[in-house]
Amino acid sequence: MMIKKNKTYSQFIVMVVILLLSSVGVGAVYKAARNRPPVVYDKLSPDVIARLNKLKLLHGGSLFTDAPIDPEKWDNKYDLGQNANDPWDKLEDSNFIIYYRNDVSGKWKNNAELTLKLANKSISDLARIFGKYIYPKDVNYRKLAIYLPPTSNGFEKTLEQMGHKPEGMSGVIGITLTLISPSGVYTDGIVIRSTTYDPSMSFNNSYKVTVPHEMGHYVYMSLYDFNQEAHPLNWVVEGIADHVASRSDQVKDAARIEFIDRNCSLVTDFPEETNSMYWAGESFFRFMSDSYGRQSVTDFIKNTYKMHASDALEQTFTGHDMKEEWVKALKKGAQADEMDVNMPDEDDALATNDDN
Ligand SMILES: [Zn+2]
Repeated sequence: MMIKKNKTYSQFIVMVVILLLSSVGVGAVYKAARNRPPVVYDKLSPDVIARLNKLKLLHGGSLFTDAPIDPEKWDNKYDLGQNANDPWDKLEDSNFIIYYRNDVSGKWKNNAELTLKLANKSISDLARIFGKYIYPKDVNYRKLAIYLPPTSNGFEKTLEQMGHKPEGMSGVIGITLTLISPSGVYTDGIVIRSTTYDPSMSFNNSYKVTVPHEMGHYVYMSLYDFNQEAHPLNWVVEGIADHVASRSDQVKDAARIEFIDRNCSLVTDFPEETNSMYWAGESFFRFMSDSYGRQSVTDFIKNTYKMHASDALEQTFTGHDMKEEWVKALKKGAQADEMDVNMPDEDDALATNDDN
């Protein structure tokens, strides 16, 4: 989601969706069709097409193509990282391939090791929140590729080499490149900007948040049913990814209430000119989990795979005015914040540090 920077996040994370739209008939030739029903473009509702078109417009790197996906392409040997002309170093296990550039200091080898560990550690959180993790066996035995270009400029260069236009990416620290094809959802890879590994980087902008956030997009898009009349609102897509990453940002509840009361409706996208889909979205999922239990988050997300988010809310929380309840909970939080200010304690000192 292209959003302007504000004082809350100096950088943000976006997901790029590439649509591979094909009118070509889909048959058994596509291995990916084995595990899930094929996505047939003709069946997509106008609502979903409008939404996907909007995503395309929002992301400079998005791409439409009519070319059918090559069944061979699911194999990681065709990854950019394994290009014979310029192969990357790689760290591989049964679920992931981390592509990096080794140097004499061993810094990027170390970062690749940290990333592989974190990616594996994130699997259980993702499985809990989405109700399922997407293992290679679920996507035609394709392992999730994560690229760690060693310089900040290398981020754009890598996107370009992967066939995407890296426009307007200056504040972007992570991207998930996904192809939605008639033969299933193909994830080209996740690309993480080098600055997220800078030890001085705040937790909110570090790889520790960025990697699970992007993996959240990978799982969500892989489980989403593009044959249904669904509509993933921006606060669902970005809020759930931040919820996976447990990114609890520095926006105070009082500021949230003011913004949400004015601008946010749970049945539409949140305004694009701010980072609200991240910070307000995450706040809403946290409220959901705290008030109705973790399972309610999973149930709601599962419903959004196949229906509009507003129907998913109604289906999951029948008879509840969720926005009203959420704002009420925020008001309580704002009161607690105020009491904290009056009576400083250790937590308060910690919070002040976090704001830097
Ligand atoms: Zn994102």
